[in-house]
Amino acid sequence: MELELWWLLGIPVFFGLGWVAARVDIRQLVSESRTLPRGYFKGLNFLLNEQPDKAIDAFIEIVRMDPESADMHFALGNLFRRRGETERAIRVHQNLLARPDLPVEQKEHAQYELGMDYLKAGLLDRAEETFNAMLHGQYAVQARKALLEIFQREKEWQRAIEAALALQEAGAGSRQKEIAQFYCELAQDALVHLHPQDALVLLEKSLQADRVNVRATMLIGDAQLAQGDVEAALLTWRRVEQISVPHTALVAQRMMDGYSKVGRAQEGVNLLKSYLEQASSIDLIEVVYKAVLELDGVGAAKQLVVDELRRTPTLLGLDKLLEARLMDAPVSVVSELSMVKNLVHGYTQKLARYQCSHCGFKARQFYWQCPGCSRWETYPPRRTEELNVMN
Ligand SMILES: [Zn+2]
Repeated sequence: MELELWWLLGIPVFFGLGWVAARVDIRQLVSESRTLPRGYFKGLNFLLNEQPDKAIDAFIEIVRMDPESADMHFALGNLFRRRGETERAIRVHQNLLARPDLPVEQKEHAQYELGMDYLKAGLLDRAEETFNAMLHGQYAVQARKALLEIFQREKEWQRAIEAALALQEAGAGSRQKEIAQFYCELAQDALVHLHPQDALVLLEKSLQADRVNVRATMLIGDAQLAQGDVEAALLTWRRVEQISVPHTALVAQRMMDGYSKVGRAQEGVNLLKSYLEQASSIDLIEVVYKAVLELDGVGAAKQLVVDELRRTPTLLGLDKLLEARLMDAPVSVVSELSMVKNLVHGYTQKLARYQCSHCGFKARQFYWQCPGCSRWETYPPRRTEELNVMN
């Protein structure tokens, strides 16, 4: 009996020990939190209350007192930049750079981030200046990549070529495909300004960078045509089929015009039909259809579309067939048929797009550089519906 009473007395003692232990923990926590600068809480409070400018001031104050807090600045600056608040991001990084005691490594990091802020804000001159000053440090490769992007945005193709070559030398992977495209851009400018000879020199360099560049091959033909040599242009354009048969769709209209010009339209039609047999393409049908219609009349054109539709049943093909059908349809069915055609046509408008294989950006026209993700040669030369049918 007495023994049990002793046990009961033990209970408050255990409670007391627990209370003491808890007090010790709380004291430790309080003393630890006191080592965090008050500015943290102030800054966080401003951030949470959607007062980012005051938050920046508070955080800058911390950095002044505590040089170790640069990482927080980088996090804050990147957060602002991602949200599109580039002015604030710039302020954060500039403040960091203004610190005289900042270690070299962090200084370069801040410089790089500031350059990226300028790039995002579209202040390309300042971005270029910032990255140009960083070509020898630890951010050299990133800076060169950023410069390459800037030159492309500014359409400074010659400088883009130099930047891409420098990146290659720095061991950042092959840029030959892009370099070939930059030469094509320069050549296209030369063609617009009626300098086909200059264009040919540039296009030869393009092919040296990338032997299987379809665009350069197409443009060489254009330059030869501009010099009045249709036969040479036709021979050049025919090389596209050796690189990629589906890409012949892009050059088909030029070829057909060329063959018509030299009085050999039938030869052109036969050639394009042979491409069609190897790789069906609605763009190619469009060109052949028009040519056959002119050469052999409605019946032959209609037959062409029917054959193609049997081989590759697409709405785009049906649309073409209805167009052909309407041409010689009896008056009694014209209104009904044109109603169906308009309906189908409405649907096919959405299917007749080109689509970037990298980011999915859809476009009515074919692009060598995607307007969505800025990558080169990411558009297959086929309409979206054809791609779906093929898959
Ligand atoms: Zn894209």
